[in-house]
Amino acid sequence: MPDSRQMACLDALGIDVYVRRGLAGAVLPPAVAPAVEATLDWEPLCDMVASCTRCALHATRTQAVFGVGSRTATWMFVGEAPGAEEDKRGEPFVGRAGQLLTSMLRAAGLRREDVYIANMLKCRPPDNRDPKPAEAVACRGYLERQIELVNPALIVAVGRIAAQNLLATDTPLARLRGRVHTLGSRARPVVVTYHPAYLLRSPSEKRKAWQDLLFARQTIGRLPRGGGDAS
Ligand code: URA
Repeated sequence: MPDSRQMACLDALGIDVYVRRGLAGAVLPPAVAPAVEATLDWEPLCDMVASCTRCALHATRTQAVFGVGSRTATWMFVGEAPGAEEDKRGEPFVGRAGQLLTSMLRAAGLRREDVYIANMLKCRPPDNRDPKPAEAVACRGYLERQIELVNPALIVAVGRIAAQNLLATDTPLARLRGRVHTLGSRARPVVVTYHPAYLLRSPSEKRKAWQDLLFARQTIGRLPRGGGDAS
């Protein structure tokens, strides 16, 4: 973790560094330990997720929804959990909200197949209820491994639940937007935007989500590795 002088510099640059703790200040239990998935390559990881029984959601899923897109993407989008359509088709963000996300990507010059898209939870919560903390913990290692394997230049956390979970904070989404957060020991940049399901309910907020994508693109452009490459 950075020392207090480094924290002050990062703060001056508008970069938030999160110390891992649970939502609402609770201590977050470590991801299932030892995290066997932490060393797996794509295919065994995918198989492990497909047959996962770590939480009760396995009993009600049609199938686990692993992730989709380029495994060498510069951009990685992380949502909350599969909905009904994703559970049926086995692919994240393919329902109405997903179609909006895909359109927004296209408007930003990104093809869906050139980014990587995954969810915090790989299985659908019944009736699309919010994920339970224990479910997020059970699934966390899978997402962490996907992030490591893709090694994206930037992660976009899609929606409050994904953002708060990923960054282990209970800060409201409005205050998480418009800043570059960092994740893990590699200080991977994370930016936060609204969930497209929310945008379907509140279309007037689409402008802000568009600003978030532009901010994400600017952030990538400023990174040594990103070099402004759109994909
Ligand atoms: N909402 C999400 O967060 N993820 C999906 O895959 C679909 C809807």
